Amino acid sequence: MTFRSAMAATADISKAIKSVFERIEVACVKRPEILPKITPRLVAVSKTKPKELIQIAYAQGQRHFGENYVQEILEKAWDDSLRGTCQDIKWHFIGHLQTNKVKKLLEIPNLYMVETVDRFKLAKEIDKHWRTLQQPQKLKVMVQVNTSGEENKSGVAPDMCCTLYQEVKEKCTNLETVGLMTIGAFDHDLSRGPNPDFQCLLQCREEVCKKFDLSLDQVELSMGMSNDFEHAIIHGSTNVRVGSTIFGARTYAAKSEEKSSTSSDSSKNNHISNEIQKLKINDKKT
Ligand SMILES: *Cc1c(COP(=O)(O)O)cnc(C)c1O
Repeated sequence: MTFRSAMAATADISKAIKSVFERIEVACVKRPEILPKITPRLVAVSKTKPKELIQIAYAQGQRHFGENYVQEILEKAWDDSLRGTCQDIKWHFIGHLQTNKVKKLLEIPNLYMVETVDRFKLAKEIDKHWRTLQQPQKLKVMVQVNTSGEENKSGVAPDMCCTLYQEVKEKCTNLETVGLMTIGAFDHDLSRGPNPDFQCLLQCREEVCKKFDLSLDQVELSMGMSNDFEHAIIHGSTNVRVGSTIFGARTYAAKSEEKSSTSSDSSKNNHISNEIQKLKINDKKT
């Protein structure tokens, strides 16, 4: 990476993270009194983005990072230069997890939490492999709930959430069940009222708390992404997963030229990350 482009990317990511933190703070103040006053954890979702951007965000003080593909988290977490510069990084796995990939995922350095436990079979597999790794701490997991009922989304059905939570909590002794997670429908129009996915997850938490005689602050809620994290916090989120607002829009194909006319911060960040991609290619040539 050249000095100039590193400076530009650093300035952009630093500004974006500061702005997200300010927005988190403002949203916390708007939370109703009955909800626990927990400052939400910011998970920076770095999927599809080069490790250089993770290193920049880390240098700004960001510690929690989220990835949703096993192959990608393996590549990044085992990367020598990233391990050297980000020794205290905390990885969150936030994607659909197949049981045959559990072992590889659990072996990565600095795995902090698996947010997407959606069936007991998967929980058992995670529990078994974490035991063989003989880690000093239990592995934090969340139960993922399919609050929108969409077929293409993972997660346990809301009415089975309590059952799964109980099984994981009671039978997986190497895991620490810390809360509930949802992705939810992408197209909720906030002008039509609270997001029903968030309401549903709150309802699930209430049932879990009743069943185990826990207070609300003992069960975390992972909900809210770039376009709705403030709304999620107002409704009680304790863990927001923010990607594009920090790192720029994701380009899955190499045709970013088509949409370069908007002046949103994401398109600007996108430009920076394209710069870095280009530089990476140049690095390889030399
Ligand atoms: C990609 C992703 C996010 C972040 O999405 P943005 O809209 O870029 O903030 C959050 N959660 C999950 C599970 C994701 O896959």
